[in-house]
Amino acid sequence: MARDYYGILGVPRNVSDQELKRAYRRLARELHPDVNPLEEERFKEVTTAYEVLSDPEKRRIVDAGGDPMAASGMGGFGGDFGGLGDIFNTFFGGGGGGFGGGGRGPRGRVRPGEPALVGLTLDLEEIAAGAEREITVDTAILCDSCDGAGTRDNSKPVTCPTCRGQGEIQTVQRSFLGQVMSVRECPECHGAGEVIPDPCLKCGGDGRVRSRRTLTVKIPAGVEQGMRVRLAGKGEVGPGGGPAGDLYVEISEKPDDVFVRDKDDLHCTLRVPMVDAALGSSLDIDTVLGGTAHIDIEPGTQPGTVVTVKGQGLPHLNTGLRGSLHAHLEVVVPAKLDGAQKDLLTELRAAANDDVELVTATSKSGAKSGVFSRLRNAFAGR
Ligand SMILES: [Zn+2]
Ligand SMILES: [Zn+2]
Repeated sequence: MARDYYGILGVPRNVSDQELKRAYRRLARELHPDVNPLEEERFKEVTTAYEVLSDPEKRRIVDAGGDPMAASGMGGFGGDFGGLGDIFNTFFGGGGGGFGGGGRGPRGRVRPGEPALVGLTLDLEEIAAGAEREITVDTAILCDSCDGAGTRDNSKPVTCPTCRGQGEIQTVQRSFLGQVMSVRECPECHGAGEVIPDPCLKCGGDGRVRSRRTLTVKIPAGVEQGMRVRLAGKGEVGPGGGPAGDLYVEISEKPDDVFVRDKDDLHCTLRVPMVDAALGSSLDIDTVLGGTAHIDIEPGTQPGTVVTVKGQGLPHLNTGLRGSLHAHLEVVVPAKLDGAQKDLLTELRAAANDDVELVTATSKSGAKSGVFSRLRNAFAGR
């Protein structure tokens, strides 16, 4: 069955050559493997479709209901990628160097764009649930007047007359050591090897213009301070309208009022009145994902006790499994007592019959996990 080459490029069957070019230019820029490695197959498809429809003979076969690529033994889609890359470079006027270029000779007028970086601050609720946020970015975008070509009214770039397309100029100077040859970048084309005699009025031939725009970015749940979310192809459009670099959104965490984060775990502190620590109590606290976590304070709870509730922390970025919530219990001794309270505690003291006691290495300390007790045990070698 013949492939729908028009459909692949999203153009009508009566598409003009100019519209066909525009359609391919837009798609190829978006799908080029340098920009978007995941779309390599689609890039091949789109490039093959353009190759077919831009060739009058092949297009005639398509319009007659045939498939010129099926007959040619080219393998159709997914064929020789090197060949397709060449088509792309020819199309974008990449010169000898293609993208990146480097080395000697013209480096090409069309080059890939730089990555861009923006910051985004999220609060703990947004980190826990994932967020969709609008961000404002200020980057070079494709000039919509020339569609990135840089030329006015479909005029063509021409080989630079100053360097004859070499992108550089050699000069020979005489010195007492003999002839010294030096090479410098061509001042007319700035190394591109070609110039645009009739540039687009809007972008001056650069194929791109600066623009401030708003993008919606989806942040997955569980991101951390300093992580970067990559938006492929949303960075700076390159010189000559080259494929855009990536946009990175760097996450900052807004400190939370209640919770302190440690990876997927959350820590909070509860102040427990002395009597509640002795008799036992409980508290429901609001969690970052809505809902509540039940914190049980056992009778006889000691200062420094940590109550852990599993599954009430943050979701893990990859697995979505939630970490734990750790409530650190601070036991509070009343600083002021009224007469009645004093009487009750005096009564309690009489009933408990506990004395103040000097702790020795062999006696048991009540505060098992206290800092001082740990320190003492460390000195005692235990
Ligand atoms: Zn333009
Ligand atoms: Zn030049």
